Amino acid sequence: MVGRLIDGVCGERGEGEGHREMAHGTSLDQQWKRIQGKLKEEVGDTAFRSWLQPLAVQGKRDGEVAIAVPTRFMRDWIETHYADRIRALWANEDPQVESIAIVVASKPASAGPPETDDNESARRPEPVVRKELAVAHRGDWETADSVRTAFRGPPAPPAPPSDGPGPGEERDDLTSPLDPRLTFENFVVGKPNELAHAAARRVAEAQSVTFNPLFLYSGVGLGKTHLMNAIAWAIRTRAPSRKVIYLSAEKFMYHFVRALRFKDTVAFKEQYRSVDVLMVDDLQFITGKDSTQEEFFHTFNALVDQNRQVVVSADKSPSDLDMEERLRSRLGWGLVADIHPTTYELRLGILYAKAEALGVRVPQRVIEFLAHKISANVRELEGALNRIVAHFELVGRPITLETTQELLRDLLRANERRVTIDEIQRRVAEHFNIRFADMASARRTRSVARPRQVAMYLAKTLTSRSLPEIGRKFGGRDHTTVLHAVKKVEELRATDQNFAEDVELLRRMLET
Ligand code: ADP
Ligand code: MG
Repeated sequence: MVGRLIDGVCGERGEGEGHREMAHGTSLDQQWKRIQGKLKEEVGDTAFRSWLQPLAVQGKRDGEVAIAVPTRFMRDWIETHYADRIRALWANEDPQVESIAIVVASKPASAGPPETDDNESARRPEPVVRKELAVAHRGDWETADSVRTAFRGPPAPPAPPSDGPGPGEERDDLTSPLDPRLTFENFVVGKPNELAHAAARRVAEAQSVTFNPLFLYSGVGLGKTHLMNAIAWAIRTRAPSRKVIYLSAEKFMYHFVRALRFKDTVAFKEQYRSVDVLMVDDLQFITGKDSTQEEFFHTFNALVDQNRQVVVSADKSPSDLDMEERLRSRLGWGLVADIHPTTYELRLGILYAKAEALGVRVPQRVIEFLAHKISANVRELEGALNRIVAHFELVGRPITLETTQELLRDLLRANERRVTIDEIQRRVAEHFNIRFADMASARRTRSVARPRQVAMYLAKTLTSRSLPEIGRKFGGRDHTTVLHAVKKVEELRATDQNFAEDVELLRRMLET
């Protein structure tokens, strides 16, 4: 599947070699007519008119059909919801067609350059695939075709709401587009996320509201948005009549501010208050903005009172949010589930799952290496894997530990653990069963002094702190004391096997 993406790109690269054959009432147009007919049957009139009718076929080259859309927003929407289907239908019509490129051209039907839009990509229609590869190089394949098709997405794309702006306009639906990759099937469950996952499942499957709200929180890139999308997909499949709204807090804010400006707040309230499930992602963004906070609070209460499900996510717990007290406490009434940082095992599981979905065999050593080294979050982990796979597909060199290290040098450096002296002191104290306070105390008995020396040694070798800085952290000791400790520990490591193992164990614990 990656191969297909790459082919498309290589095709684009062959500059000068021929140009797109334009569709002047040729069979390409006829094929498109038939495909449009099928699409209309599949998605219904309204969705067809809003999204698919404005599309115009531009031409075909190297097994790739280019389809023009008037705006970038539409391109993204079509990409997310319909491109795979169009590709499949086209392959039925013409087996030579391997891929579809959705391009932005403000005058889709004409071959000439569009006159509006200051955007470079709009001036010269540019296949999305090329764009996506550029993104892939930065290690982020959020919208990469290959990934999207590789993951089993839910079958039926959602139909856009029937009213609202006409086709082609930059519309702002209440709900944000869902990412077809973000389903429960594609979510790897492990210790750090099992509670959040179970709660999300429950919300998606329950007949009645069990806990309200479900509050998900974690650091970035650990799966909150994934779980919320998964809930929405699951409900759409299981109970399509339920009205589910998923949007970012920023978008909520934007809608509200706009409603204020157009004095349309009644309609605003009605819209939100008529939903069955409201999911607001990244709630931390509405902190501080008083009137929006207030409005969210009212909406929230109204929904909860009517026994509608609310799901929110944030980067911190309700009590740590910078919000009004009553909202904070209200948010904590349901179930609060945090997703913990990934463990090595979970990272392994995710890498295996993603490699399989990409259809690429990645050596176990490389997977283990990545799981070990890239611990910041899942997004980075995915990015790293995608980078390696893209490189492999482009250059054709086998994936090895060496190429991996080479390719990911910058990412690996950023992921090097920055251990703090506090952490070292805590770990070492735990390990030797002494009090944390003794790291800085004046006590000199061997049982305390030796662990303290080990901690100083580790502070010197694992952090970039200077000797005087380290000394200060250990109860204001002199830098020569630290130096002495380092020498002493090195000496002991060389002569005492058990001691050496102890230190090694601690080092490893602190580094992973
Ligand atoms: P957050 O919203 O917490 O910042 P996301 O949900 O956007 O994080 O996750 C970042 C990326 O990592 C997404 O591509 C998501 O699919 C992936 N991801 C996170 N957790 C998992 C998991 N447990 N299994 C599979 N993919 C995951
Ligand atoms: Mg998110």
